[in-house]
Amino acid sequence: TSIRLSGITPSGHAQLGNYLGAVSRWVTDGGPDDLYFISDLHAMTTTHNPAGLRSRATEMLAVLVAAGIPPENVFVQSDLARELGALTWILECTCSYGEAARMIQFKEKAAGQAGVRLSLLTYPVLMAADILLQGASEVPVGEDQSQHVELARALARRFNSTYGEVFTVPRAVLPITGARVRDLADPTRKMSKSNRDAVGVVFVLDEPDLIRRKIRRAVTDTQSTPAYEPEERPGVSNLLEILAACTGTTPQEAAGEHASYGALKEATADAVIETLRPVRERTRELLTDPGELERIRKAGASRAAQRGEHRLQSALRLIGAA
Ligand code: ATP
Ligand code: MG
Repeated sequence: TSIRLSGITPSGHAQLGNYLGAVSRWVTDGGPDDLYFISDLHAMTTTHNPAGLRSRATEMLAVLVAAGIPPENVFVQSDLARELGALTWILECTCSYGEAARMIQFKEKAAGQAGVRLSLLTYPVLMAADILLQGASEVPVGEDQSQHVELARALARRFNSTYGEVFTVPRAVLPITGARVRDLADPTRKMSKSNRDAVGVVFVLDEPDLIRRKIRRAVTDTQSTPAYEPEERPGVSNLLEILAACTGTTPQEAAGEHASYGALKEATADAVIETLRPVRERTRELLTDPGELERIRKAGASRAAQRGEHRLQSALRLIGAA
């Protein structure tokens, strides 16, 4: 059976694009063995706020479970810090410095920065450990992360042929994706949880009033009748795409049903509010019942640790350590 592993970094609060584009699809189209983890250790490669990171990781776990991902398939990366730390070291001893320094993401993120953390260079090796510890065979990633999956693949092959067969050799696969959601205030860029300016970002936990205000203020254009033309009219097309994703129609159909921008905005606000309502309410319940969330978190952590234990022990033994 194939295990697909996807991570989500708690670099901000979960936003509408994360939900419509990824999480809701994981719920409907994911397989029973798919694994999802909150990659909080990956949020430490640049300046970070410890308390903020902790609360966002907890919140992201609650959102995933509230959205309907089976709790047994979710875990928080830092709960496996010991196992992952050990395996990262083994894999660093399998990786050349040149291989790590070649990573495009590292070059881009380190360029012109002072005090670059060593972890920015080595995080692809931690990512390899995430994948190889769980025995994942498929890793759904966008273009920007495919080089890292290639590294994980090379390290698994190299370890297996040098020391002995331990690791499943993973491959990058196309992610399951839903709508592409753009920023409401600047529809030329995508909506992101780490946007500094949040006026154009609808967060999963925003209250209905706030969602409606953000959507009413969404940037459109000088025309007045909705039409789906993503290139020429990104703002109104974004609203149509959001509305269609929330109501199960197509953007073209949604355009035909609303005569004015005002009507389209109200309909989009209604649809987003109703789509997010159960997720928000269930997330709030979980966050106000720390016992239940803690139980889910512990169970996920021990399942994930158990899944990887024999691989870590074999790798340590084969490399000459234990
Ligand atoms: P960051 O700003 O930290 O990159 P992000 O909001 O872009 O945050 P990611 O952690 O990069 O979120 O991605 C998590 C998942 O959400 C991925 O599967 C990604 O494709 C999806 N996703 C992120 N933003 C959008 C968006 N605007 N529309 C659709 N899908 C999105
Ligand atoms: Mg992103």
